[in-house]
Amino acid sequence: MEEKHCWVPLPDHTHFSIYNLPFGIFSVGNNPKRLGIAIGDKILDLAGVASLGYFKTLQIPDEIFLQDTLNQFIGLGKKQTNQVRIMVQKWLSDQESQLRNYPHLLVDQSEATLHLPLEIGDYTDFYSSLEHATNVGKMFRDPDNALLPNWKHLPVGYHGRSSSIVVSGIPIHRPMGQVMPVGSSQPVFKASERLDFELEMAFVVGKENRLGQSIPLDQAEEYIFGMLLFNDWSARDIQKWEYVPLGPFLGKNFASSVSPWVVTLESLEPFRVNGPAQDPPVLPYLQYQGPRNFDINLEVSITTSDGIESAVCQSNFKHMYWNMAQQLAHHTVNGCNVRIGDLMASGTISGPDPGSYGSMLELSWGGTRPITLTDGTQRTFIDDYDLVTMTGFSGKPGYQVGFGKVHSRVLPAVQ
Ligand code: MN
Repeated sequence: MEEKHCWVPLPDHTHFSIYNLPFGIFSVGNNPKRLGIAIGDKILDLAGVASLGYFKTLQIPDEIFLQDTLNQFIGLGKKQTNQVRIMVQKWLSDQESQLRNYPHLLVDQSEATLHLPLEIGDYTDFYSSLEHATNVGKMFRDPDNALLPNWKHLPVGYHGRSSSIVVSGIPIHRPMGQVMPVGSSQPVFKASERLDFELEMAFVVGKENRLGQSIPLDQAEEYIFGMLLFNDWSARDIQKWEYVPLGPFLGKNFASSVSPWVVTLESLEPFRVNGPAQDPPVLPYLQYQGPRNFDINLEVSITTSDGIESAVCQSNFKHMYWNMAQQLAHHTVNGCNVRIGDLMASGTISGPDPGSYGSMLELSWGGTRPITLTDGTQRTFIDDYDLVTMTGFSGKPGYQVGFGKVHSRVLPAVQ
């Protein structure tokens, strides 16, 4: 990789190096929402850059950069969106760039509001971590036979709900719902006592297939625009009572939180790694070649109401048993059509050791082993006013391709 020197000053450990350049939607004050690219602690205002004629050679209409979501931009196709990113990379590393004459086009991230970057049509949640599925199977079903017979033959998933997906920073209310108390035969209606996070990543669909036409695995990555951090909030007590036989419902659909920057698949290319060997062999439509996993370090922390932060989980996206290309090939193999802006989440990303479990359900082993936080308090699940933060990055200082963070505070139930 050729070394590039960006003329925008970059903090040493920034996730947003010149090699990343993720896309997002931001606004400043009462000005309209627009597209931006994160660079260090700044945002390059793409609508402003476009108005100076910088994207003329690509024949992209200026108003594409002055939208409330990235959908139209993504709809241009990878050929054009990649060009925009490569041109910005060139301008920001060209010491003679005329863009340096327009300092107002670089907005401080701290002065901007970051918005949900997508109009999300449909949201699907997979269940693709072997360690997570095994842990949950042990706790909810049979310790000796944790995986159901289908698990190693197809990427298990369910259709979630997009209306309640919110961007980082928006607080979440503890959900009310129906639960079955232990040892009782009568359900009660109450605030969830087992509110949990799920450490996930999601990919953004960037190209549509026609209804009735499947996406072959070897073309699947052409349909993936980029990725986000995804906290799939879960109410374990509601989930446990309701999920038989049709799967997750109100224990899941009250909220999910996403990070504001969409990191392109292209910027993650250097971090491809081989996934775990799949045994037994999968059916031909799920067979793949080459490295299809990505080495992305992930961390979850809980900041209590006293402001003290404790790391509770360190995991990595590379652990996933089923990769994104397999998920998309499977999702469409029956002819189901996907649309630009659809989100497909990975499922909880747990690793092999207990410190890498991606949910409180696993970290506290079903609430039986409380974890002690830095401030001395204990948690089995998430308390009111806790702030849950997830971060993720690939690479090393100076060459990081990171996702920033998704953080959300839990507020008491609305009774
Ligand atoms: Mn989930």
